[in-house]
Amino acid sequence: MSAAETTSQPAEIVVMKFGGTSVAGPEDLKRAAARIVAERERGSKVVAVLSARGKTTDDLVRQASEISDRPEPREMDMLLSTGERISCALCAMAITDLGHSAISLTGSQAGIVTDSSHTKARIIDVRADRIQAALDGDNIVLVAGFQGVSTDSKDVTTLGRGGSDTTAVALAAALQASVCEIYTDVAGVFSADPRIVPDARKLSVVSFEEMLEMSASGAKVLQLRSVEYARNYDIPIHCRSSFESGPGTLVVSENETMERPLVTAVAHSDQEARVTLAGVKNEPGMAGRIFTALADANVNVDVIIQNEPVSTTHGADLSFTVARDDLRQAVEAIEATGQNSDEILTDERIGKVSIIGAGMRSHPGVAAQVFRVLGEQGINIEMISTSPIKISCVISSDRVDDAVRALHESFGLGSESVHEEEPTGVHHRARVGQ
Ligand code: ADP
Ligand code: ASP
Ligand code: MG
Repeated sequence: MSAAETTSQPAEIVVMKFGGTSVAGPEDLKRAAARIVAERERGSKVVAVLSARGKTTDDLVRQASEISDRPEPREMDMLLSTGERISCALCAMAITDLGHSAISLTGSQAGIVTDSSHTKARIIDVRADRIQAALDGDNIVLVAGFQGVSTDSKDVTTLGRGGSDTTAVALAAALQASVCEIYTDVAGVFSADPRIVPDARKLSVVSFEEMLEMSASGAKVLQLRSVEYARNYDIPIHCRSSFESGPGTLVVSENETMERPLVTAVAHSDQEARVTLAGVKNEPGMAGRIFTALADANVNVDVIIQNEPVSTTHGADLSFTVARDDLRQAVEAIEATGQNSDEILTDERIGKVSIIGAGMRSHPGVAAQVFRVLGEQGINIEMISTSPIKISCVISSDRVDDAVRALHESFGLGSESVHEEEPTGVHHRARVGQ
């Protein structure tokens, strides 16, 4: 029992998630174990969620592709879920060596219950009694991220790429943790991917709304579903570096004291594909039929454009974007609905650049500036979509990096141009700085 628990205050629960790079080599894994132990020695009860080591998940995907062109999704999940289990068992060993009790659990053992959509399952319940009992028994609990079990099929499921973030937030909600800490290979959430924009600025606070738009626009530092979950349960996320100490970025509910710059961040994705249905029959119910088929196939559709037919004898052209990994499924789902168009065209070389900012709601002219900047760079805009706090442009994938840098510069988002503010006046339950 720690010093803090001998006082009358019950120990607070902290969920700490470590991503793939943070547990890649033996030294990384031991560093993560030491950080977990340090948090326990400060008096918290600790649940740590780990990702697969380094590029393990990519490697498992590659192994499957060497064996089969169409692996069964159920078997993919059996395969992919092994990576996180390895990390947890090894980390439990490292923690034991540091003199603390630790127990590793699979997602299923940890009570992560999902629907049965293999490779993209959604968490529907967290039955945390086994974790709670292990914490009560003075253990540090290591939970394999990115996986659960379907109670319908009793099969192992995985939560989609980047899904360990969602495991961590879901556990933080179920255990009423004080904070969900996401340890990663960058110092927090930045004004753009720091690997593309070297002078990107670390943001001290981001609202759930802005982070949702950033994640949906490709900023993979937090998986989209983890942010949705955190917003729904009001769980503060502290995204920070595994390799350095000091505060990272707090992702919290929007409140009156929060700064609302015109533009907060530029996000990008080069993992998109476009489907165009040329000559879609011009009759009621067509779009409904096509998009229902895509939804039934669990394909997430992003930007959609439909052009008016040039005359009553012509069909309409309907284009939409999907994640590149979903392209084959999307085309097969549409083909299965029968002959709805003259032709189905696909383009795998498209990317997307987006600017996000809560301050945009009340400022006209932002879209004009985005289009002007891309035009000056000679970048053709192929599709556009907007929300009150986001403008996205679909462009050629080989120009995405140029577009990100030009927009970041034009909106003055760099660390050179903007004064860094500490998160004073922000009401949150999370602690920063340890
Ligand atoms: P982990 O393995 O820890 O889950 P990820 O690779 O999933 O890490 O996410 C971290 C990566 O997200 C960073 O290395 C960075 O390249 C990328 N990234 C993209 N956009 C941003 C952003 N706006 N801020 C920080 N990182 C970002
Ligand atoms: N290992 C999984 C992936 O690479 C899940 C995660 O790391 O969050 O996508
Ligand atoms: Mg990740």
